[in-house]
Amino acid sequence: MKAQDGMYIDGAWRPAAGADTIEVVNPVDEQVIGRVPAGTPEDVDTAVRAARAAFPGWAATPPAERAAKLTALRDVLVARKDEIAETVTAELGSPLPFSQTVHAGVPIAVAGSYAELAATYPFEEKVGNSTVYQEPVGVVGAITPWNYPLHQIVAKVAPALAAGCTVVLKPAEDTPLTAQLFAEAVAEAGVPAGVFNLVTGLGPVAGQALAEHPDVDLVSFTGSTAVGKRIGATAGAAVKRVALELGGKSANVILPSADLAKAVNVGVANVMSNSGQTCSAWTRMLVHTARYDEAVELAAAAAAKYGDRIGPVVSAKQQARVRSYIEKGVAEGARLVAGGPESPRDQGYFVSPTVFADVTPDVTIAQEEIFGPVLSIIRYEDEEDAVRIANGTVYGLAGAVWGDDEAEAVAFARRLDTGQVDINGGRFNPLAPFGGYKQSGVGRELGSHGLSEYLQTKSLQF
Ligand code: NAP
Ligand code: MG
Repeated sequence: MKAQDGMYIDGAWRPAAGADTIEVVNPVDEQVIGRVPAGTPEDVDTAVRAARAAFPGWAATPPAERAAKLTALRDVLVARKDEIAETVTAELGSPLPFSQTVHAGVPIAVAGSYAELAATYPFEEKVGNSTVYQEPVGVVGAITPWNYPLHQIVAKVAPALAAGCTVVLKPAEDTPLTAQLFAEAVAEAGVPAGVFNLVTGLGPVAGQALAEHPDVDLVSFTGSTAVGKRIGATAGAAVKRVALELGGKSANVILPSADLAKAVNVGVANVMSNSGQTCSAWTRMLVHTARYDEAVELAAAAAAKYGDRIGPVVSAKQQARVRSYIEKGVAEGARLVAGGPESPRDQGYFVSPTVFADVTPDVTIAQEEIFGPVLSIIRYEDEEDAVRIANGTVYGLAGAVWGDDEAEAVAFARRLDTGQVDINGGRFNPLAPFGGYKQSGVGRELGSHGLSEYLQTKSLQF
């Protein structure tokens, strides 16, 4: 994919207001692979005006026609899926097979799900003597991170468009090429001018200008809790809708009756996948004291098998951040059983798949989101202890429970303060609501719950 040197605004690639650019770097070999414009508040304003102008027309477009455009968009993503996978691999560094199945495959499924939902969702219902209409919220400012660069864009833009909203997107500075490719796909799908707009740029400049823009009706943000708090405060002050999909520190709870080898191997794979850069990763493995040593041995062996095949993390900054957490874990007295702070390669932003044993629940590596291939194995004494540890962070995004008796695992899962739990390795479901309890966020993405974030109700009484 060749980088575009403009912004996609009002249905065309237009020159940026300023001359600054952002270099896109391949994390495997540290080479610059492209440059995109660094948007200014002026670019954001132009894009928001375009989205505002397009809003009445798109909101009035019948849902079946909006559905048809989303189907066309899904079809373009299907036709360009190899290019999507190659682009994500080039700028994120994830191994190509993972880019094909997950980074390209999941957004195709999500776009398809919203094409269907747009056509079937009850935008109008009768409640007693009222008719309740679900109307689009308006202009959406979408701010996305780099870890699942296309998924996070589609998880916002597809439901927004299905609802009848128009969008301005500010993607992560590290993965703007995937966002440009998405804009090309929107254009190819024949989505009307101004309905979707793209402004590449830096978070504190273009991102902040978008979050603060008075003519944005809803800010939908995915990223760090630190930035999310600021965006929530800004939106609150302006009485603006806000959706926040933030960090996580999820627990993988292995009950004493579980198939230990399976639970540990799937658990390690979950953490190492995407080089640990997954907000919902189960980065804390909770094991009963009777099976603890066996679990540690299995996890260390599983992690060692990955070597550098997991791919690098996204940037030098992220690599340094993850390595400092590993050093902190050692300093805090946890026992390193796989990996460590040294990079497995001289070049590229690689981090060794790392496993810590003897992690106590309150140390930094058990509390903070590391966002790298680092697993902490924590011991529990009984079920109450496991619940307390699992719920003992500021986060509540995801989790897993393993147990021989499914009813027992479900009963345990119901006690977790978290937005989604996989029982015995349950598969990702693109129609299930995704989002956090506590400081993991506000709002839900995906499926009909994700669609309703972009709708507001109007009731007419008769
Ligand atoms: P981040 O700064 O929160 O980035 C997310 C998005 O917000 C990016 O588009 C970013 O732009 C933008 N942004 C940054 N500052 C902003 C501001 N003041 N106003 C508006 N938008 C702003 O996250 P990061 O720096 O990429 O990663 C830092 C840590 O966040 C990671 O180590 C990880 O722990 C966590 N994280 C979590 C998720 C998740 O899915 N929950 C995703 C990514 C990161 P830039 O790209 O220019 O920074
Ligand atoms: Mg940042």
